[in-house]
Amino acid sequence: MAVADVLAEEFPTYRVPLDHGSAFQLLAATILSAQCTDAMVNRVTPALFSRYPDATAMAVADPAEVEEIIHRTGFFRAKTRSLIGMATAVVERHGGDVPGRMAELVLLPGVGRKTANVVLAQWFGVPGIAVDTHVLRVARRLGLTTETDPVKVERDLGRLWPRRLWSDTSLRLIFHGRRTCTARAPKCGACPMVGFCPRIGVDAPLLRVDVDADADARVGKRLPAGGQ
Ligand code: SF4
Repeated sequence: MAVADVLAEEFPTYRVPLDHGSAFQLLAATILSAQCTDAMVNRVTPALFSRYPDATAMAVADPAEVEEIIHRTGFFRAKTRSLIGMATAVVERHGGDVPGRMAELVLLPGVGRKTANVVLAQWFGVPGIAVDTHVLRVARRLGLTTETDPVKVERDLGRLWPRRLWSDTSLRLIFHGRRTCTARAPKCGACPMVGFCPRIGVDAPLLRVDVDADADARVGKRLPAGGQ
């Protein structure tokens, strides 16, 4: 069974984890999510979007006030510069509307291909593969790529999956990386892909574990070779 099919069974439905009401807000929330949990971003954005709901408002924001609102997301000075710079560019170059094309998105301050792909896929419905740290790690463990450069990983995954599956499958890979194929001690014994995954670079022994929606693992007995 293909990786995309297994992931679709594992996460048949999902919602985009960053709360937003517009392309601008999704873009801003994605910028804030760097080195920060989605839960923390969602705690900060109601106040941020209440004060600065769109690019026009954010473009003229007081940096000190933005820093105060978002400081819990970390790297708040750099993120404030990105938010205000991004909003200013959206106003000046695009009349206040976030553009729906990769070539224009990646020219905005603070916006790389990963962030652009999130917005393209989840707001504009343009197929995109957002390669974050989870996608990088899980794709390499599964043997889907040998690359470490996100752009090359995006290219490799794009060749493996039909375009219509890009957005859903890459987001599901992120969820899988958070819940099961974690950076430390991946829960291979509870993974639906353990039967065909080469577990490249995984040193941990194969253990039978339970995984629940809160990503808690309860480690039990060691499985015999082959994971049967
Ligand atoms: S079997 Fe292990 S290494 Fe492979 S995808 Fe599952 S959790 Fe990750």
